[in-house]
Amino acid sequence: MNENDLMTQVVALCKRRGFIFPSSEIYGGLANAYEYGPLGVELKRNIKNLWWKTFIHDRIDMLGLDSSIIVHPKTWEASGHINSFSDPLVDCKNCQRRTRADHLIENYYAQKQEPRLVEGLPIEELQKIIEKEQIACPYCGEFQWTPVRKFNLLFETSIGIVPESESKAYLRGETAQGIFLSFKNILDSTRVKLPFGIGQIGKSFRNEITLGNFIFRTLEFEQAEIEYFFDPQNSNWEELFDNWQEAMWQFVTTQLGIGKNNLRWREHTDEERSHYSLRTVDLEYNFPFGFKELWGLAYRTDYDLKQHMEYSGQDLRVTDSSDGRKYIPHVIEPAVGINRLLLMVLLEFLWQDEANDRLVLKLPYQLAPYKAAVFPLLRNKPELVAKAESVFKLVQSAMPTTWDDRGNIGKRYLSQDEIGTPYGVTVDFQTLEDDTVTIRQRDTTKQARVKIDELLAELDA
Ligand code: ATP
Repeated sequence: MNENDLMTQVVALCKRRGFIFPSSEIYGGLANAYEYGPLGVELKRNIKNLWWKTFIHDRIDMLGLDSSIIVHPKTWEASGHINSFSDPLVDCKNCQRRTRADHLIENYYAQKQEPRLVEGLPIEELQKIIEKEQIACPYCGEFQWTPVRKFNLLFETSIGIVPESESKAYLRGETAQGIFLSFKNILDSTRVKLPFGIGQIGKSFRNEITLGNFIFRTLEFEQAEIEYFFDPQNSNWEELFDNWQEAMWQFVTTQLGIGKNNLRWREHTDEERSHYSLRTVDLEYNFPFGFKELWGLAYRTDYDLKQHMEYSGQDLRVTDSSDGRKYIPHVIEPAVGINRLLLMVLLEFLWQDEANDRLVLKLPYQLAPYKAAVFPLLRNKPELVAKAESVFKLVQSAMPTTWDDRGNIGKRYLSQDEIGTPYGVTVDFQTLEDDTVTIRQRDTTKQARVKIDELLAELDA
């Protein structure tokens, strides 16, 4: 499958089989918004659970949190989001379409086969490049731009219980700030000692205007973010940074099973790195539209806690129990979008099996929405159906399982292959005689007969 075909196939499969639908279709759709259908919600949940298990449950130095989407608006002043959480935009005066200036320039150079990164350059620089290169509007081909200007990504809303003038609030643009707001409460309510991390998964919102690339960039998305707090005098940040880089790599390659050839690290340039960050690297995946950020890792120093101390007037310092020294912890932040992980997984594992003329979603077992499907060979034989129902109940008590009695058995197998179900279990006439069923494996299509007594052990990957 070539790259374009792959993306088209993934989008089509998602719609056809109920993984992901375009949002609000009955009203003509809403750009950059999607719905996760019955299978999409299971796949997403499996990814989140794996992340949570790996980074919270399986570690001794990590705690979880679920903070609010709407928090005190001062939070975003302190964090710098109100002033600088913006993208550079231009509007086309001819066709009225809006474009991100940095993406416009990067696409222009990519088409000339001279890839260049300009994200993070000051808007004056971007303006100069657009003018010098006379970069035309990608939609109408005209060169009639407004000047480049900053467009804030925070969604505004208002809170009803306070006077009008004070009611302005924001939907969070990242989950990380909630972690800083709860830092002191977590420290005071647990017996945790630094270094330790707080992780959470939750929705974030950004007023993104770039279109396309399916769920890669959406208005709302789920982030899984960690703030790892440490004492800069007693911990070596380079070492912690390396450890987190390794943990991210292991998660993507071992837990999610992604091929190393499709991954790379990219160090941020001085221009694009936030002023408070001493080092930022992105783990990038080879999407059909190029290597793009999947997961960011940044050493944010003590910037956020310091800002919140200043804006709130509260002391957020930690006391060193050995000598009473008070200090502001520093943080390292691994931040990933669950939806981007999900898109990567779909692209990585969709496989056109030419030999058997079938489309297979070769998901790792732990990610598959259903682990097994149970079929009665024929649906018009009550004794077969009754037996199959009892097998279904048995398997369902142990793992997410689906049932299918439509069409012939071959079609049912193909239908399960497309949604990634690792095992098909068929109940036939022999089952009624000797209590055995056929297990068919998704990837090899191999079939074997096993006793119902041994079925669960066989299906447990
Ligand atoms: P990008 O440069 O792609 O806009 P970012 O550097 O602004 O991303 P961060 O603020 O570091 O992103 O957010 C952490 C992670 O959240 C990203 O690595 C990405 O996986 C995810 N993410 C960010 N914005 C979006 C979005 N609009 N839709 C889906 N996922 C997103």
